[in-house]
Amino acid sequence: MGAPGELIEGFRRFRARHFSENDAIYRHLVTDGQSPDVLIVACCDSRVDPAIVLDCAPGDLFVIRNVANLVPPAEDRAGHHGTTAALEYGVRILHVKHIIVLGHAQCGGIRTLLTTQGADNPNSFIDDWMRLAEPARQEVERTLPDAPPAIRMRACEQHAVGVSLQNLMTFPWIRERVEDGSLTLHGWYFDIENGQLLGYNDTAHGFEKL
Ligand SMILES: [Zn+2]
Repeated sequence: MGAPGELIEGFRRFRARHFSENDAIYRHLVTDGQSPDVLIVACCDSRVDPAIVLDCAPGDLFVIRNVANLVPPAEDRAGHHGTTAALEYGVRILHVKHIIVLGHAQCGGIRTLLTTQGADNPNSFIDDWMRLAEPARQEVERTLPDAPPAIRMRACEQHAVGVSLQNLMTFPWIRERVEDGSLTLHGWYFDIENGQLLGYNDTAHGFEKL
């Protein structure tokens, strides 16, 4: 699956399913507009499409995908802040009730961060982007300096979710909604090796099976 011809065949099956007489889902979504309750920040990785993994229907999820599912902190500097603009749209215009940061196992972005040791490489957009997760890498260096690479990877992937949750709270329009209870933040981790979904537990300071 993946050649353009196969994708067009896929669209035909999708169309037959969702635009038929007995499935009015798009009629409603077009007439009423979208009103998803959940915004999800996921990785670009082809194995972790949140709508597929979480078995969602059209209109269910407002999805932001970037390398390693990172959220940058709020900043005044002008620029092309794609992730931030999408967050703002989801929170301030669509009024989502939940934001989920969905990390995952075997993340190539996190592997790059651990391999490059957080070095500043002006010639790589990936290295520059991954520096957002530098606090997670430093935490792994501090707590697991001699652990096997697979353990360090997993820890860094999970710490990076925590960094993004902290960065979400730097946006005043997110912080105020979290504080008044109209918005809840969640840190999840899709373990693609074991087929499990884990969630960050604030009290236990760790991820546990959902
Ligand atoms: Zn990834």
